[in-house]
Amino acid sequence: MNEEIPVDGVTRPWWEATRERRLTVQRCLECGHRQHYPRALCTGCGGTALDFTDVSGRGTVDSFTVVHRAPRPGLETPYVVARVRLAEGPILLTRLVGADPSAWTCDEPVRVAWRPLPDGRHLPVFAKE
Ligand SMILES: [Zn+2]
Repeated sequence: MNEEIPVDGVTRPWWEATRERRLTVQRCLECGHRQHYPRALCTGCGGTALDFTDVSGRGTVDSFTVVHRAPRPGLETPYVVARVRLAEGPILLTRLVGADPSAWTCDEPVRVAWRPLPDGRHLPVFAKE
């Protein structure tokens, strides 16, 4: 997880918040819809007035898979890729950490943990609540 992760104008505020280990989602200022990942348009109403709001970092496992064969060299297996549904509604594609890969179940409560990146940003991963 030490490769360069690209940032653009839409995703920059989200990444900057991770420097302070704050998990955020986009919020539409027109309809109140919350979404992740960051986009130029609201997926609820098509509006373009969007800001970022902090979320609790709590959620539940929506779905997951255990990866046993690395898609490229340098990744240690097995690891768990998951969809986590945040308490606030949006879903993140993330990793589950801190437990044996065979120990996870759907609907399990989780909370955010952080993996540091070399440039000071962090990647949100999730651990058992
Ligand atoms: Zn909207």
